[in-house]
Amino acid sequence: MDRYAVIGHPIAHSKSPRIHAAFARQTGQQLEYEALLAPLDGFVDTVTQFREAGGRGLNVTVPFKLEAFALASRRTDRAATAGAVNTLMFDADGILGDNTDGAGLVRDLVANLQCPLARRRVLLLGAGGAARGALLPLLQAGPASLTLANRTEAKAHALTDAFRQYAAGTTLHASTFAGLAGQQFDVVINATSASLSAEAPPLPAGIYAPDALAYDMMYGSSETAYLRAARDAGVKHLSDGLGMLIEQAAESFALWRGVRPHTAPVLAELRRELAAA
Ligand code: NDP
Repeated sequence: MDRYAVIGHPIAHSKSPRIHAAFARQTGQQLEYEALLAPLDGFVDTVTQFREAGGRGLNVTVPFKLEAFALASRRTDRAATAGAVNTLMFDADGILGDNTDGAGLVRDLVANLQCPLARRRVLLLGAGGAARGALLPLLQAGPASLTLANRTEAKAHALTDAFRQYAAGTTLHASTFAGLAGQQFDVVINATSASLSAEAPPLPAGIYAPDALAYDMMYGSSETAYLRAARDAGVKHLSDGLGMLIEQAAESFALWRGVRPHTAPVLAELRRELAAA
């Protein structure tokens, strides 16, 4: 039986084993998928043991995405630009590092939420790992403009400068939150970790275009502070990041197994469970 796992610290909360078990059942793939707790100073050793025991691939979560990047012997373009790896695949050539988070986000937006990105005004809030991972797939979706706003302005500038070479056809801006005043956006994506502390980025009034979508990469059993603030601002289309989680898992599954699972039933099941929690 081919073995896969999600590796992190902590890891007990991870939904990935359930998601991948559902994908395997649905596609008739014979595989095992477990949760692997690595000691904070033992990522490489844990990966090596898993691989030597016949492991075929890993999903990598907090706090090991940078170590996974360093461990990979070759990387996809989206992993190279993200500077972080959330998917490892072991093969005869070594260790391939991929990053499926941004592709998962774009797929959730475009396919699941029917929110096109091409030629639209996109605002990305935050300049940490999640924002960096999303930038290449977002730019490849061809928005008219992509504005990156962050609490620490210098980080927003550094990130937009690093991605300017991929922005053909898209106007790429860096901003503070206050600097957004007077502008409007069709799609606003919260990639800050403010929701983890029940806070919302301090956005000026009037930034949501009519029919705009407000998206929070975070998910949980209750509405995030960012989505609540967007709802209070009159936004009608709102989504958390549960679909992104499932879509990034599907991207990893497709890389490993060469078959793309249907995500809708798995998303519906996890959504029901979150609502009941
Ligand atoms: P990082 O720690 O790398 O970055 C944090 C970012 O949030 C920085 O830009 C920081 O700004 C900003 N920030 C933190 N607190 C506040 C605040 N109170 N107000 C405004 N800005 C704030 O985190 P990640 O990028 O790894 O993760 C961000 C979010 O994305 C998390 O909520 C995570 O759960 C989610 N995520 C979801 C995924 C999914 O599959 N759905 C996948 C990956 C991430 P500054 O630079 O000024 O410090």
